[in-house]
Amino acid sequence: MDLKILPLPNPKPRPADESQLGFGKQFTDRMFIMEYATGKGWHSARIQPYGPLSLDPACAVLHYAQEIFEGLKAFRRDDGSIALFRAGDNVRRFNRSAARMCMPEVDEGFFLDAIRQLVRLEADWVPRSPGTALYIRPTMIAADPYLGVHPSDTYLCYVILSPVGAYYKGGFSPVRIWISDEYVRASLGGTGEAKTGGNYAASLKASMEAESRGFDQVLWLDAEHRNYVEEVGSMNMCFVIDGKVVTSPLRGTILDGVTRRSILALVNDLGVEVEERALSVDEIFEAIASGRMTEAFGTGTAAVVSPVGQFTYRDRTATLGDGRQAGAFTMKLYETLTGIQYGRISDRHGWVEAL
Ligand SMILES: *Cc1c(COP(=O)(O)O)cnc(C)c1O
Repeated sequence: MDLKILPLPNPKPRPADESQLGFGKQFTDRMFIMEYATGKGWHSARIQPYGPLSLDPACAVLHYAQEIFEGLKAFRRDDGSIALFRAGDNVRRFNRSAARMCMPEVDEGFFLDAIRQLVRLEADWVPRSPGTALYIRPTMIAADPYLGVHPSDTYLCYVILSPVGAYYKGGFSPVRIWISDEYVRASLGGTGEAKTGGNYAASLKASMEAESRGFDQVLWLDAEHRNYVEEVGSMNMCFVIDGKVVTSPLRGTILDGVTRRSILALVNDLGVEVEERALSVDEIFEAIASGRMTEAFGTGTAAVVSPVGQFTYRDRTATLGDGRQAGAFTMKLYETLTGIQYGRISDRHGWVEAL
Protein backbone atom coordinates (compact mmCIF):
# COMPACT_ATOMS: atom_id res chain seq x y z
CA MET A 1 0.00 0.00 0.00
CA ASP A 2 1.36 3.42 -0.76
CA LEU A 3 0.76 6.54 1.23
CA LYS A 4 -0.65 9.51 -0.72
CA ILE A 5 0.10 12.97 0.47
CA LEU A 6 -2.68 15.40 -0.45
CA PRO A 7 -2.10 19.14 -0.88
CA LEU A 8 -2.68 21.47 2.05
CA PRO A 9 -4.44 24.58 0.69
CA ASN A 10 -4.96 26.50 3.96
CA PRO A 11 -2.32 26.06 6.69
CA LYS A 12 -3.37 27.46 10.06
CA PRO A 13 -1.29 29.90 12.06
CA ARG A 14 0.87 28.18 14.71
CA PRO A 15 -0.09 28.78 18.36
CA ALA A 16 1.67 32.01 19.28
CA ASP A 17 1.80 31.49 23.05
CA GLU A 18 3.11 28.04 24.01
CA SER A 19 2.27 28.64 27.68
CA GLN A 20 -1.43 28.52 26.72
CA LEU A 21 -1.32 25.18 24.85
CA GLY A 22 -2.94 22.98 27.50
CA PHE A 23 -3.71 19.37 26.49
CA GLY A 24 -5.48 18.22 23.33
CA LYS A 25 -7.24 21.46 22.52
CA GLN A 26 -5.61 22.35 19.21
CA PHE A 27 -4.73 20.16 16.28
CA THR A 28 -2.22 20.48 13.48
CA ASP A 29 -2.90 21.06 9.77
CA ARG A 30 -2.82 17.46 8.61
CA MET A 31 -4.04 14.00 9.62
CA PHE A 32 -3.30 10.46 8.47
CA ILE A 33 -6.26 8.26 7.54
CA MET A 34 -6.83 4.84 5.98
CA GLU A 35 -9.90 2.68 5.43
CA TYR A 36 -10.66 -1.00 5.89
CA ALA A 37 -13.22 -3.34 4.41
CA THR A 38 -13.52 -7.09 4.98
CA GLY A 39 -12.14 -8.85 1.93
CA LYS A 40 -10.27 -5.77 0.77
CA GLY A 41 -8.10 -5.02 3.79
CA TRP A 42 -6.62 -1.62 4.57
CA HIS A 43 -6.66 0.78 1.63
CA SER A 44 -6.72 4.45 0.59
CA ALA A 45 -3.98 5.48 3.04
CA ARG A 46 -3.36 9.19 2.83
CA ILE A 47 -2.19 12.25 4.68
CA GLN A 48 -4.83 14.91 4.16
CA PRO A 49 -5.84 18.27 5.65
CA TYR A 50 -7.18 17.91 9.23
CA GLY A 51 -10.95 18.14 9.30
CA PRO A 52 -14.27 16.60 10.38
CA LEU A 53 -15.21 13.06 9.41
CA SER A 54 -18.55 12.38 7.80
CA LEU A 55 -20.22 9.41 9.53
CA ASP A 56 -23.62 7.78 9.12
CA PRO A 57 -25.68 8.31 12.32
CA ALA A 58 -26.10 4.51 12.48
CA CYS A 59 -22.30 4.07 12.47
CA ALA A 60 -21.34 1.18 14.79
CA VAL A 61 -18.77 3.10 16.86
CA LEU A 62 -21.40 5.68 17.83
CA HIS A 63 -23.65 3.00 19.34
CA TYR A 64 -21.52 0.14 20.61
CA ALA A 65 -18.15 1.83 21.11
CA GLN A 66 -16.06 -0.52 18.99
CA GLU A 67 -13.08 1.80 19.19
CA ILE A 68 -9.41 1.86 20.20
CA PHE A 69 -6.78 4.55 20.52
CA GLU A 70 -3.18 5.21 21.47
CA GLY A 71 -1.24 8.12 22.93
CA LEU A 72 2.44 8.92 22.41
CA LYS A 73 4.61 11.97 22.02
CA ALA A 74 7.18 13.56 19.73
CA PHE A 75 9.71 15.78 21.49
CA ARG A 76 11.65 18.82 20.31
CA ARG A 77 15.22 18.43 21.51
CA ASP A 78 17.70 21.12 22.45
CA ASP A 79 19.45 20.87 19.06
CA GLY A 80 16.09 21.51 17.31
CA SER A 81 15.66 17.91 16.08
CA ILE A 82 12.50 15.91 16.70
CA ALA A 83 12.36 12.49 18.35
CA LEU A 84 9.74 9.81 18.90
CA PHE A 85 9.74 7.78 22.12
CA ARG A 86 9.14 3.99 21.89
CA ALA A 87 6.59 4.46 19.09
CA GLY A 88 6.87 0.78 18.10
CA ASP A 89 5.58 -0.22 21.55
CA ASN A 90 2.50 1.93 21.06
CA VAL A 91 1.80 0.44 17.62
CA ARG A 92 2.13 -3.10 19.01
CA ARG A 93 -0.26 -2.23 21.85
CA PHE A 94 -2.66 -0.71 19.29
CA ASN A 95 -2.75 -4.11 17.59
CA ARG A 96 -3.30 -5.93 20.90
CA SER A 97 -6.22 -3.59 21.67
CA ALA A 98 -7.55 -4.21 18.13
CA ALA A 99 -7.49 -7.98 18.66
CA ARG A 100 -9.42 -7.64 21.95
CA MET A 101 -12.09 -5.44 20.32
CA CYS A 102 -12.48 -7.69 17.21
CA MET A 103 -10.93 -5.03 15.00
CA PRO A 104 -8.41 -5.56 12.18
CA GLU A 105 -4.73 -5.18 13.00
CA VAL A 106 -2.61 -2.66 11.13
CA ASP A 107 0.70 -3.43 9.44
CA GLU A 108 3.17 -2.40 12.13
CA GLY A 109 5.89 -1.15 9.80
CA PHE A 110 3.52 0.71 7.49
CA PHE A 111 1.65 2.37 10.34
CA LEU A 112 4.84 3.42 12.13
CA ASP A 113 6.12 4.89 8.92
CA ALA A 114 2.85 6.77 8.37
CA ILE A 115 3.21 8.27 11.87
CA ARG A 116 6.82 9.26 11.13
CA GLN A 117 5.86 10.89 7.83
CA LEU A 118 2.96 12.78 9.39
CA VAL A 119 5.12 14.14 12.21
CA ARG A 120 7.84 15.11 9.72
CA LEU A 121 5.32 17.03 7.60
CA GLU A 122 4.00 18.75 10.74
CA ALA A 123 7.45 19.33 12.26
CA ASP A 124 6.77 23.06 12.60
CA TRP A 125 3.97 22.23 15.04
CA VAL A 126 6.27 20.53 17.55
CA PRO A 127 6.49 23.20 20.27
CA ARG A 128 9.85 24.44 21.54
CA SER A 129 9.31 25.56 25.15
CA PRO A 130 10.59 23.32 27.98
CA GLY A 131 8.22 20.48 28.85
CA THR A 132 6.05 20.83 25.74
CA ALA A 133 5.56 18.10 23.12
CA LEU A 134 3.51 17.03 20.14
CA TYR A 135 0.90 14.52 21.32
CA ILE A 136 0.12 11.80 18.76
CA ARG A 137 -3.31 10.16 18.87
CA PRO A 138 -3.80 7.07 16.66
CA THR A 139 -7.46 5.99 16.62
CA MET A 140 -9.53 3.23 15.00
CA ILE A 141 -13.33 3.23 14.77
CA ALA A 142 -15.98 0.79 13.49
CA ALA A 143 -17.73 2.36 10.52
CA ASP A 144 -20.60 0.05 9.45
CA PRO A 145 -23.94 1.88 9.29
CA TYR A 146 -25.68 -1.05 11.01
CA LEU A 147 -27.41 -1.38 14.40
CA GLY A 148 -26.88 -5.11 14.81
CA VAL A 149 -24.47 -5.99 17.62
CA HIS A 150 -21.66 -7.50 15.58
CA PRO A 151 -18.06 -6.60 14.73
CA SER A 152 -18.07 -4.08 11.91
CA ASP A 153 -16.92 -4.97 8.39
CA THR A 154 -15.55 -1.51 7.74
CA TYR A 155 -13.19 0.66 9.80
CA LEU A 156 -11.42 3.99 9.74
CA CYS A 157 -7.98 4.33 11.22
CA TYR A 158 -6.54 7.81 11.63
CA VAL A 159 -3.82 9.73 13.43
CA ILE A 160 -4.22 13.30 14.66
CA LEU A 161 -1.58 15.51 16.29
CA SER A 162 -1.93 18.07 19.05
CA PRO A 163 0.77 20.41 20.39
CA VAL A 164 0.58 20.13 24.20
CA GLY A 165 1.86 22.42 26.93
CA ALA A 166 4.16 21.60 29.85
CA TYR A 167 2.30 19.32 32.30
CA TYR A 168 4.02 20.77 35.35
CA LYS A 169 3.51 24.49 34.99
CA GLY A 170 3.10 25.03 38.72
CA GLY A 171 6.02 22.77 39.70
CA PHE A 172 6.34 19.02 40.25
CA SER A 173 3.63 18.92 42.93
CA PRO A 174 2.09 15.79 44.45
CA VAL A 175 -1.57 14.99 43.83
CA ARG A 176 -4.31 13.87 46.23
CA ILE A 177 -5.80 10.48 45.46
CA TRP A 178 -9.26 9.18 46.25
CA ILE A 179 -9.45 5.37 46.51
CA SER A 180 -12.87 4.37 45.18
CA ASP A 181 -14.76 1.76 47.21
CA GLU A 182 -17.85 2.02 45.03
CA TYR A 183 -16.81 2.08 41.39
CA VAL A 184 -14.46 -0.24 39.52
CA ARG A 185 -12.72 0.38 36.22
CA ALA A 186 -12.25 -3.15 34.90
CA SER A 187 -12.62 -6.77 35.88
CA LEU A 188 -10.84 -9.98 34.92
CA GLY A 189 -12.06 -11.03 31.49
CA GLY A 190 -13.14 -7.46 30.66
CA THR A 191 -11.42 -4.84 28.50
CA GLY A 192 -9.14 -3.24 31.10
CA GLU A 193 -5.98 -4.06 29.18
CA ALA A 194 -7.27 -2.60 25.90
CA LYS A 195 -6.94 1.12 25.23
CA THR A 196 -10.58 1.55 24.32
CA GLY A 197 -12.90 4.51 24.84
CA GLY A 198 -15.50 2.57 26.82
CA ASN A 199 -13.08 2.16 29.74
CA TYR A 200 -12.87 5.93 29.92
CA ALA A 201 -16.64 6.51 29.65
CA ALA A 202 -17.07 4.07 32.56
CA SER A 203 -14.52 6.00 34.66
CA LEU A 204 -16.07 9.46 34.36
CA LYS A 205 -18.55 9.17 37.22
CA ALA A 206 -15.92 8.30 39.82
CA SER A 207 -13.63 11.06 38.47
CA MET A 208 -16.40 13.65 38.79
CA GLU A 209 -17.16 12.56 42.36
CA ALA A 210 -13.48 12.64 43.27
CA GLU A 211 -13.16 16.12 41.76
CA SER A 212 -16.21 17.41 43.61
CA ARG A 213 -14.63 16.21 46.88
CA GLY A 214 -11.41 18.06 46.08
CA PHE A 215 -9.27 15.13 44.90
CA ASP A 216 -7.10 15.08 41.79
CA GLN A 217 -7.41 11.42 40.72
CA VAL A 218 -9.22 8.17 41.42
CA LEU A 219 -7.32 5.04 42.43
CA TRP A 220 -9.10 1.93 41.19
CA LEU A 221 -9.22 -1.28 43.19
CA ASP A 222 -9.66 -4.76 41.75
CA ALA A 223 -13.28 -5.67 40.96
CA GLU A 224 -13.26 -9.03 42.74
CA HIS A 225 -11.97 -8.19 46.22
CA ARG A 226 -12.25 -4.39 46.10
CA ASN A 227 -9.01 -4.46 47.98
CA TYR A 228 -5.97 -4.48 45.68
CA VAL A 229 -4.50 -1.55 43.76
CA GLU A 230 -5.07 -1.57 40.00
CA GLU A 231 -4.16 1.84 38.58
CA VAL A 232 -4.90 5.51 39.06
CA GLY A 233 -6.83 7.68 36.59
CA SER A 234 -5.15 6.85 33.30
CA MET A 235 -1.81 6.07 34.90
CA ASN A 236 -0.09 2.99 36.29
CA MET A 237 0.83 3.20 39.96
CA CYS A 238 4.18 2.62 41.70
CA PHE A 239 4.95 2.66 45.44
CA VAL A 240 8.34 2.83 47.13
CA ILE A 241 8.16 0.43 50.10
CA ASP A 242 11.19 -0.75 52.10
CA GLY A 243 13.38 0.77 49.40
CA LYS A 244 11.80 -1.38 46.65
CA VAL A 245 9.40 -0.31 43.91
CA VAL A 246 6.06 -2.11 44.18
CA THR A 247 3.62 -2.07 41.26
CA SER A 248 0.51 -4.03 40.23
CA PRO A 249 1.13 -7.07 38.03
CA LEU A 250 -0.30 -7.18 34.49
CA ARG A 251 -3.26 -9.54 34.88
CA GLY A 252 -5.40 -8.25 32.04
CA THR A 253 -7.21 -5.57 34.04
CA ILE A 254 -4.74 -2.69 33.79
CA LEU A 255 -3.02 -1.01 30.87
CA ASP A 256 0.45 -2.26 30.04
CA GLY A 257 1.88 1.28 30.08
CA VAL A 258 4.92 2.14 27.99
CA THR A 259 5.88 4.64 30.70
CA ARG A 260 5.45 1.95 33.37
CA ARG A 261 7.80 -0.37 31.48
CA SER A 262 10.32 2.44 30.96
CA ILE A 263 10.25 3.47 34.62
CA LEU A 264 10.69 -0.14 35.78
CA ALA A 265 13.72 -0.45 33.48
CA LEU A 266 15.22 2.75 34.95
CA VAL A 267 14.53 1.50 38.48
CA ASN A 268 16.39 -1.66 37.56
CA ASP A 269 19.28 0.41 36.12
CA LEU A 270 19.54 2.17 39.48
CA GLY A 271 19.97 -1.21 41.19
CA VAL A 272 16.62 -0.91 42.97
CA GLU A 273 14.43 -4.01 43.20
CA VAL A 274 11.01 -4.13 41.51
CA GLU A 275 8.15 -6.18 42.95
CA GLU A 276 5.17 -6.76 40.69
CA ARG A 277 2.60 -7.93 43.19
CA ALA A 278 -0.80 -7.31 44.72
CA LEU A 279 -0.89 -4.41 47.16
CA SER A 280 -3.91 -3.97 49.44
CA VAL A 281 -5.49 -0.77 50.73
CA ASP A 282 -4.55 -1.83 54.28
CA GLU A 283 -0.92 -2.17 53.25
CA ILE A 284 -0.93 1.39 51.84
CA PHE A 285 -2.14 2.81 55.16
CA GLU A 286 0.02 0.52 57.27
CA ALA A 287 3.18 1.18 55.23
CA ILE A 288 2.67 4.95 55.35
CA ALA A 289 1.97 4.89 59.10
CA SER A 290 5.07 2.80 59.82
CA GLY A 291 7.27 4.85 57.51
CA ARG A 292 7.98 1.84 55.26
CA MET A 293 6.35 3.59 52.30
CA THR A 294 8.32 6.69 51.46
CA GLU A 295 7.07 7.67 47.99
CA ALA A 296 4.31 6.89 45.49
CA PHE A 297 3.76 8.00 41.91
CA GLY A 298 1.71 7.41 38.78
CA THR A 299 3.24 6.83 35.33
CA GLY A 300 1.76 7.67 31.93
CA THR A 301 2.60 9.43 28.68
CA ALA A 302 0.85 12.71 29.54
CA ALA A 303 2.48 13.44 32.93
CA VAL A 304 5.40 10.96 32.56
CA VAL A 305 5.61 10.70 36.36
CA SER A 306 3.05 12.14 38.77
CA PRO A 307 4.02 12.22 42.45
CA VAL A 308 1.30 11.30 44.97
CA GLY A 309 1.10 13.17 48.27
CA GLN A 310 -2.00 11.75 49.88
CA PHE A 311 -4.42 8.79 49.79
CA THR A 312 -7.99 8.83 51.07
CA TYR A 313 -10.15 5.73 51.49
CA ARG A 314 -13.56 6.07 53.16
CA ASP A 315 -12.81 8.10 56.31
CA ARG A 316 -9.08 7.40 56.38
CA THR A 317 -6.40 9.71 54.97
CA ALA A 318 -2.66 9.09 54.88
CA THR A 319 -0.04 11.62 53.82
CA LEU A 320 3.41 10.92 52.42
CA GLY A 321 5.92 13.34 53.97
CA ASP A 322 4.30 16.76 54.16
CA GLY A 323 2.16 15.92 51.11
CA ARG A 324 3.52 18.95 49.26
CA GLN A 325 6.89 17.82 48.05
CA ALA A 326 7.76 15.07 45.60
CA GLY A 327 10.18 12.43 46.90
CA ALA A 328 13.79 12.40 45.74
CA PHE A 329 13.52 9.01 44.00
CA THR A 330 10.33 10.02 42.14
CA MET A 331 12.06 13.22 41.07
CA LYS A 332 15.16 11.34 39.89
CA LEU A 333 13.05 8.97 37.76
CA TYR A 334 11.15 11.89 36.25
CA GLU A 335 14.36 13.79 35.47
CA THR A 336 15.97 10.70 33.96
CA LEU A 337 13.07 9.70 31.72
CA THR A 338 12.34 13.22 30.49
CA GLY A 339 16.10 13.71 30.08
CA ILE A 340 16.20 10.73 27.72
CA GLN A 341 13.10 11.92 25.85
CA TYR A 342 14.47 15.43 25.30
CA GLY A 343 17.95 14.14 24.44
CA ARG A 344 19.72 15.54 27.49
CA ILE A 345 20.62 12.09 28.86
CA SER A 346 22.08 9.30 26.74
CA ASP A 347 19.56 6.73 25.58
CA ARG A 348 21.09 3.42 26.65
CA HIS A 349 17.92 1.44 25.98
CA GLY A 350 17.43 2.61 22.38
CA TRP A 351 14.00 4.09 23.15
CA VAL A 352 14.40 7.31 21.21
CA GLU A 353 14.23 7.62 17.43
CA ALA A 354 15.30 10.85 15.74
CA LEU A 355 13.07 11.79 12.81
C1 LIG B 1 -2.72 4.94 28.39
C2 LIG B 1 -2.97 4.47 29.75
C3 LIG B 1 -1.97 4.31 30.71
C4 LIG B 1 -0.53 4.73 30.50
O1 LIG B 1 0.08 4.14 29.42
P1 LIG B 1 1.36 4.83 28.77
O2 LIG B 1 1.69 3.92 27.65
O3 LIG B 1 2.39 4.88 29.80
O4 LIG B 1 0.93 6.19 28.34
C5 LIG B 1 -2.30 3.79 31.95
N1 LIG B 1 -3.57 3.47 32.25
C6 LIG B 1 -4.57 3.63 31.37
C7 LIG B 1 -5.94 3.25 31.76
C8 LIG B 1 -4.31 4.13 30.10
O5 LIG B 1 -5.32 4.29 29.24
